[in-house]
Amino acid sequence: MKCARCGKEAPESLTTEAVELDAGGLLVVRHIPCYRCGNCGEVMYAGDVVRRMEELTGQAEAMLQEITVVNYARTR
Ligand SMILES: [Zn+2]
Repeated sequence: MKCARCGKEAPESLTTEAVELDAGGLLVVRHIPCYRCGNCGEVMYAGDVVRRMEELTGQAEAMLQEITVVNYARTR
């Protein structure tokens, strides 16, 4: 994938993201597949990953825990 910011090639990688939840908790998702630009460090997600993250965010909000940590690779 081409980097959205600088246009250089962004190879596949894995990342960890922390999402602040509306309910006040924090969701940490580990091992998320992404594309990371080797030039500027921009991280991009495929469309299905974006949708899956939204689902995981909704599930975490329903659990009402202070901190939820999930491994993306194990949520399928
Ligand atoms: Zn870039």
